[in-house]
Amino acid sequence: MEAIKRTKISDLLKSTAYGTQVNVRGWVRTRRNSKQVAFVALNDGSTINNVQVVIDVEKFDEEQVKLFTTGACLSVNGTLVESIGGGQSVEIQAVEIELLGACDNTYPLQKKGQTMEYMRTVAHLRPRTNTFGAVFRIRHNMAYAIHKFFHDKGFYYFHTPIITASDCEGAGQMFQVTTMNLYDLKKDEEGSIKYDSDFFGKQASLTVSGQLEGELAATALGAIYTFGPTFRAENSNTPRHLAEFWMIEPEVAFNDITDNMDLAEEFIKYCVQWALDHCMEDITFLNNMFDKGLIERLRSIVDTEFVRLAYTDGIKILEEAVAGGHKFEFPVYWGVDLASEHERYLVEHHFKRPVILTDYPKEIKAFYMKQNEDGKTVRAMDVLFPKIGEIIGGSEREADYGKLLQRIEELGIPMKDMWWYLDTRRYGSCPHSGFGLGFERLLLFVTGMSNIRDVIPFPRTPNNAEF
Ligand code: ATP
Ligand code: MN
Repeated sequence: MEAIKRTKISDLLKSTAYGTQVNVRGWVRTRRNSKQVAFVALNDGSTINNVQVVIDVEKFDEEQVKLFTTGACLSVNGTLVESIGGGQSVEIQAVEIELLGACDNTYPLQKKGQTMEYMRTVAHLRPRTNTFGAVFRIRHNMAYAIHKFFHDKGFYYFHTPIITASDCEGAGQMFQVTTMNLYDLKKDEEGSIKYDSDFFGKQASLTVSGQLEGELAATALGAIYTFGPTFRAENSNTPRHLAEFWMIEPEVAFNDITDNMDLAEEFIKYCVQWALDHCMEDITFLNNMFDKGLIERLRSIVDTEFVRLAYTDGIKILEEAVAGGHKFEFPVYWGVDLASEHERYLVEHHFKRPVILTDYPKEIKAFYMKQNEDGKTVRAMDVLFPKIGEIIGGSEREADYGKLLQRIEELGIPMKDMWWYLDTRRYGSCPHSGFGLGFERLLLFVTGMSNIRDVIPFPRTPNNAEF
């Protein structure tokens, strides 16, 4: 075959260089035949759009053309011509075609319109579909937007460890990391496992959050963010939880809870605006296929001010709803950890816009949150979103060494491995705040997909670590 430099389909579809010889490579999405011509829709992942390759059957070996089946990989040399039919602006009149990889009829993606559940069983191939191609292109763009947002604001990207030996938070939810022989565990007289012969000489786990190390960085570099994998062994089989997900955690010295809310709101709006500005083809596809209100919802988020409401006032609204006859699955009372149905009631029914709920009871929040003067609540802030519920969880941190230590003792948190964290309050303590955004929850919102398993390439959930 004549050597012509490859053009990506995304670039080709914008070209008006009619009559030039081009090369494209990609996978066959569909093929239609008429008597004299075969039409092959080719996709190379650079865009959701296919380029149509027109094959004059007389000029090609009939047996070869039969091999250009759905899923096959082709390299096509041809003439770029203006398209007469509707849809695309250009198509390719094939001159030479090389079959790079054949694809037989066992290919799992031959039938269109398969369910999302089926697609998860072929997660190794699903990026080749329109839907997952769109989702993963948006995923990339969102990751880029996040780095750009923080970089432009002077935040530093800080890498916190993935393996950690601090089990002060969510101990029960942690995946253990060990090189010990599980068939022959060494135990002491009380029957506890002896970790001194383990790789790190102590019990180690996968991180559930980079926050504590993020605080060390913020109290040195001023403003930082982390963006990394996070692991939670919570056995919650919901459409919003993964065992392995990606979290973005900014942490900023001298920010109070109001600054923290301002940052969270600006950040989410920036990301959504970025998607509208850079991913419109993919978003339009998802809007038309799955979620007719998607574009509308994205636009409305960037234009509306988020509601800011104290937890206590939120509970009042929910109690009034119950009194008015609204049925929730879980009870509502001051002190309860809100369920997703409660959060969504506030956002979708009551206010009809995102809500930042603040000042939660200290009992349902983490030990490091700054205590309010009332002795009952802490300066927590959760950002609640339509269709998602909690998308961000954050707080102003307790900067007072004595108060922090007292809370740690009250809760009986094992701090022997946490002396380094307390040093932030011992040496030049400062007010500071931060939050965590679940990357996949943001993607759920931006793509309109309804299950978190469908916005990460290879989902890890209870009983599932395939691929
Ligand atoms: P939830 O109440 O929804 O389980 P959480 O309060 O345990 O969340 P945080 O510890 O506040 O979550 O974590 C910060 C953010 O990380 C959450 O607001 C959410 O966006 C995301 N997140 C938490 N757990 C998961 C998970 N298992 N899978 C995906 N994202 C998650
Ligand atoms: Mn939370």
